[in-house]
Amino acid sequence: MSRNAHPAGPRHGDVLPDAQPSQAPLDPNALDPAIWPASAQRRDGVLQLGGAPVTALVDEHGTPALFLDEDDLRARARAYTVACGDSSGIDVYYAGKAFLCTALARWIAEEGLGLDVCTGGELAVALAAGFPAQRIGVHGNNKSRTELTRAVAARVGHVVLDSFAEIDRLADIAATAGVQQRVLVRVTVGVEAHTHEFIATAHEDQKFGFSLRDGSAARAVAAVLAAPSLHLGGLHSHIGSQIFETAGFEVAAHRVISLAATIRDVHGVQVEEINLGGGLGIAYVAGDDPESPKQTLERLNGIVELECASVGLRAPTLSVEPGRAIVGPSAVTVYEVGTVKDVTLDGGHTRRYVSVDGGMSDNIRTALYDASYTCVLANRESAATPMLSRVVGKHCESGDVVVRDTWLPGDVRPGDLLAVAATGAYCRSMASNYNHVPRPPVVAVREAATQVLVRRETEDDLLRLDMGAPR
Ligand SMILES: *Cc1c(COP(=O)(O)O)cnc(C)c1O
Repeated sequence: MSRNAHPAGPRHGDVLPDAQPSQAPLDPNALDPAIWPASAQRRDGVLQLGGAPVTALVDEHGTPALFLDEDDLRARARAYTVACGDSSGIDVYYAGKAFLCTALARWIAEEGLGLDVCTGGELAVALAAGFPAQRIGVHGNNKSRTELTRAVAARVGHVVLDSFAEIDRLADIAATAGVQQRVLVRVTVGVEAHTHEFIATAHEDQKFGFSLRDGSAARAVAAVLAAPSLHLGGLHSHIGSQIFETAGFEVAAHRVISLAATIRDVHGVQVEEINLGGGLGIAYVAGDDPESPKQTLERLNGIVELECASVGLRAPTLSVEPGRAIVGPSAVTVYEVGTVKDVTLDGGHTRRYVSVDGGMSDNIRTALYDASYTCVLANRESAATPMLSRVVGKHCESGDVVVRDTWLPGDVRPGDLLAVAATGAYCRSMASNYNHVPRPPVVAVREAATQVLVRRETEDDLLRLDMGAPR
């Protein structure tokens, strides 16, 4: 189990909860507002999203499908910009890897956020959406020459540098293009944060960034300052994901700001911006308790100001890169139940396997990270005694689990709809065609009207890439 648990899952490997929730919820039909989108409610027993019953959404768009509450998403994005309004100069970049399509990129732009991309493909979507290039940041530990050339040509706001090879590559590309490219230097601070724990060591065993400990980060800064076609905009650190507490950020900020002080002392350069990355957590299951964007940003800003004051630095602009916290809670995945099977375990217990028409191809997080999810019966309410159930997909793989343990009404049957909450981030964006299963659509819902953001893939789409046997 701990082998699978990873930073992007909700819990550390060594603190995985007991595999089985011990108690049935008081009401398995209830919708915890901390977990579900703002518009989620039941009417005549049927789950409503964006003012529409899921039964009607499914009649129109089929299953499995991701339904995204547009107002909820915009409100979450706006919560960051509003929170920044009162605290001085915080920049927020939405991390597009959580989920990106052109419509979403436009909404993010309209709400006043910047956008992080980390591949040529994500950059292409951002540019196709007309996202203002000056508000785009480009990440990645292995950006190709082509990707960097396109980013420079598009005049993106900043590139986050990740290796010495890339410093040379980008300096060359920017010089050829006749521009001075603004860059951040990604620093590996030796902090790994996750949910309620963080590990702070000097140990920096990962592929991202320049190590602080061995002096790489300081040498990278010197190399940037020596390159006329690069402009040092600031320092960057990203410590993990699904983080509920700011203590890990505090250690990271302390270490990054020590480097900023060294840069001032050695080079006489004031760092303009400190980017503390993403990783802000959301509620997947009851008891998850993330802070509000306002609380988080105020706390991070306070930490940066304090750390800067202690080394006599003028406080730079703080920037953050939430992905999950903006898009995660806004979407739910709706599946249709195909089979229900009870299996007798050692000791006489029964485990109920509820098979749905999607699975690890539309949500890999449970298999990959031991992620936990909340799931409800969506097309009706039921007073039947709750049964501890496991929601599994249709793939030829025993690890194909969507929700490992959930209490579902005991009368769940084929043809019922199940809704899984908080699937907006890292589900459709990590979807695959395993078993040649077409990927599900993402449909926005607002005031009971739908807008298909990404249409359902078809078998024709899959066959289009198949060039056939040579004749
Ligand atoms: C993944 C990532 C993010 C976004 O992480 P979330 O957990 O979705 O907030 C932000 N910045 C960087 C550099 C990342 O790799």
